[in-house]
Amino acid sequence: MSRLTTNGRRRIFFMDICFGMAILFLLGRVAWLMSGAGGELVKRAYDNQTRDRLISPRRGNITDRNGEILVGTQTAAAISVIHAQITDEEGTARVLSDILELDFDEVLKKVQKRVALVRIKDKVDAETAEKIRALDLDGVMIDEDIKRVYPYNDTAAQVLGFVGRDNQGVIGLEAKYDSILKGEKGRLMTYTKANGTEIKGLPQYRQAPVDGGELVTTLDLNIQRYAEQLIENTVTIKQAKSGLIIVMDPQNGEIYAMANYPSFDLNAPYTIEGGENMNSREKSDALNRMWRNFAINDTYEPGSTFKVVTSAAGLEEGVVHPDDTFECNAGRNVADRRIKCWRAPRSHGHETFVQGVQNSCNPVFMDVAARLGGARFYDYMIKYGFDKKTGVDLPGEAVGILRKKADITPLDTAVMSFGQSFQITPLQLISAVAATVNGGVRITPHFAKAVKNGDKTTDFVYNEGDRIISKETSDTMRGILESVVAVGTGNKTYIPGMRIGGKTATSQKLPRGSGKYIASFCAFAPAEDPKAIALVLINEPQGVYYGGQVAGPVMQQLLGNILPYMGVEPEFNENEKELAPIKAENYVGMSVKEAKTALGKLNIDAEVVGGGENVAAQLPNEGDNVNAGSKVILYTD
Ligand SMILES: [Zn+2]
Repeated sequence: MSRLTTNGRRRIFFMDICFGMAILFLLGRVAWLMSGAGGELVKRAYDNQTRDRLISPRRGNITDRNGEILVGTQTAAAISVIHAQITDEEGTARVLSDILELDFDEVLKKVQKRVALVRIKDKVDAETAEKIRALDLDGVMIDEDIKRVYPYNDTAAQVLGFVGRDNQGVIGLEAKYDSILKGEKGRLMTYTKANGTEIKGLPQYRQAPVDGGELVTTLDLNIQRYAEQLIENTVTIKQAKSGLIIVMDPQNGEIYAMANYPSFDLNAPYTIEGGENMNSREKSDALNRMWRNFAINDTYEPGSTFKVVTSAAGLEEGVVHPDDTFECNAGRNVADRRIKCWRAPRSHGHETFVQGVQNSCNPVFMDVAARLGGARFYDYMIKYGFDKKTGVDLPGEAVGILRKKADITPLDTAVMSFGQSFQITPLQLISAVAATVNGGVRITPHFAKAVKNGDKTTDFVYNEGDRIISKETSDTMRGILESVVAVGTGNKTYIPGMRIGGKTATSQKLPRGSGKYIASFCAFAPAEDPKAIALVLINEPQGVYYGGQVAGPVMQQLLGNILPYMGVEPEFNENEKELAPIKAENYVGMSVKEAKTALGKLNIDAEVVGGGENVAAQLPNEGDNVNAGSKVILYTD
């Protein structure tokens, strides 16, 4: 333990008088030494009188759009030892290994190392660090450090990302916005005796670290967690390989949710389930798989959801009109190949263009693409940006894999019309559909909304994107896609009172014929002025694999829950009136007879519990919904 020497007391006196001058002197000395003028001998002597350590700044939080903390920072400590000052090597190693739950031999090795400073453990929580501090061990240093915490563990894991030991972002937003979040390191200079022991009680020179900015994201924790719950259930029930849900504002590209399943725990990002027996190569492969974000890292053949793009291009160029008629014939002959409709050997027969979209009839889209011609069709793929990144603010975004324009044959054009023979990312697909239904303008999907530094908030600015199709074409497309959900292949997503538009897809995975599929559904609502667009994607479902049947009900649950949460009230048309839930009135205090009469007027049945004459309680309560076919229970006194 250090005692203050006479020399030390004199120093205190000196420091109390002119601390500021001392700092200047010290900094000057540092500069002088660093310039090399000091020479090794002087440097060592200096090192023995002062110690300069870096202090970690507080890394900025990451919050959702409502200020909920998704990623936080806790104060922690870094424990190190200085060999020269240790008086009891074994004792110190014993205490440190016990408290820090480390292997004794390894700690002892570090304690015995004849170097200036050895780090024993970092990111030690404050409570544990305090235990060590209280022992006041010679040669044991406790420095300020920070520890990243992820309160929701696996929520939005692939999006948020995590940091490495040095607190630098490794993947996700932690990596993308590292420069904003990290802040600037501070320094701590202390005085030491000739033997290197810190002189306690002496004023220190402390340059405070600059805290990092807080990143406010577009994510909505409630929507994100609901989407995660849904996709986890679906993947489990369908014994699928993985699943993805994206929810976005189609008007401005703000992403409300991006839910991948399986996910991983951000508080233990290197823990692999069943990874005990893996070699290092297998481990790194498994980690990369686990950290992958299907939405942006992987490409797939979009299949029929891409018919949205084919339709928009055809309408925009005037080669097709909603009332044009087509003949399915179960397929088309293109360049001496027979390309079947998905319904073959059956046919959709005679149908209008709108019915063709509702039926997702392949020959209709082959015809539209043929009318456009390969070159013009391809130009729309470029206009929609499938050859470029969407610009989402996450590292590692993949781009679409397209053929060269010059190489496109009529056969290619035919299969491209229904989303085959090229690959794009799920985020490219949803962004293209968003542009189709938002009035026709490209959006940049993104997560960063604002940065907060203390009281100052700076918003991120995203420029209005290029126009891809006219407003008229966009209006027409919304109407057609709404009919797909009302009466077409998307009817499993229909919700009475909600105007939903969308398109299903059942994509074959490559190599074709492998029997592996991706079932998907892209939908938006309300159809007349979309506030949300969502993509549900289920990778390799077992059993039934059709997009409408597998992803449709998931989309129905998703939109059925998030639209009311977003303040979109249902509006029932004439046909839906009887399906609309009815609000229960107050029946408490009425006689049973009066209550039954009141319920009868609303066409609601009553169930009476108890033998009394008057209603003492009711379920559902006043103002709550009574769904069609259910009843109100009246409890009598
Ligand atoms: Zn057909």
